[in-house]
Amino acid sequence: MRQFLNNMANIEMKSCSLCPRECRIDRTKKLGLCGESNDMRIAKIMLHRFEEPCISGTDPKRGSGAVFFSGCPLHCVYCQNKDISGGGVGKLYSPTDLANAMRELEEQGAYNINLVTPTHFTNGIKEALDIYRPRIPIVFNTSGYEKAETVRGLSGYADIFLTDMKYGTAETASKYSKAPDYPHVAVTAIKEMVNVTGSPRFFSDNMMKKGVIVRHLVLPGCRRDSEKALRLLADTVGCENVILSLMSQFTPDFAKDIKELSRRVTSFEYNYVRDCALELGFSGFGQDRQSAKADYTPDFHGKDNN
Ligand code: SF4
Repeated sequence: MRQFLNNMANIEMKSCSLCPRECRIDRTKKLGLCGESNDMRIAKIMLHRFEEPCISGTDPKRGSGAVFFSGCPLHCVYCQNKDISGGGVGKLYSPTDLANAMRELEEQGAYNINLVTPTHFTNGIKEALDIYRPRIPIVFNTSGYEKAETVRGLSGYADIFLTDMKYGTAETASKYSKAPDYPHVAVTAIKEMVNVTGSPRFFSDNMMKKGVIVRHLVLPGCRRDSEKALRLLADTVGCENVILSLMSQFTPDFAKDIKELSRRVTSFEYNYVRDCALELGFSGFGQDRQSAKADYTPDFHGKDNN
């Protein structure tokens, strides 16, 4: 009987169902839909100065300690990081290597460790954090396409979730990410993220200590879908439990083959979605639509978020 249970445990461990794609394959032998084996691959490690102000800060010598993982389970047609998410770029890192990289970022003055697209390497990341736990906050920076149980398993590891809420309808989620279940899956996961981190909290210098930031990128021709996404988020998770980051930086260069995405978002579209967010009661960040660097404008609500 014991032997039988051990075998069952091995099957469970090898069959990957970390994310809602639920490939249920052995990633030691085959690549999942995320494009990755079990071995952690990292495309870039850097101090990142262009995340939200409470993540990147304003000191030009510091920034968010970003670790960009290779691969992605979602594969949006307009992805700005296609080389990293699906292009096979990156070097293999053991959990010890990642632990050392996090320590180096901390020594360089990073405000936090920002794990970008981490879901498919959740196990290796947890192992790395068991080896070395930085004294700065750990940020899980995700597409929002997460299983609630995977998020729950990050309790004690994640201080901050920087998550997307991309779509409000199955139609748009299916068209651009082949994930018709995205709206429901994402709000369920975000609710769990709030359970893990609690409400937003800040250090005395306004840098984020704990909580959830929800990013929403306005897409061309999709303002009504954006409205539905924000309404679903407000109804399911509650405006007061998250900080909203409303983004305008959609770049048509990355979706050249898709006619309706071959332009930038207009001011009318962005302002329409911003007004919906304000009406629903969200607080957070807006983005300068004209900025080539996609800089953030702190606090579109005109309120202090502390
Ligand atoms: S993490 Fe990768 S292999 Fe695992 S279920 Fe998701 S897409 Fe499939």
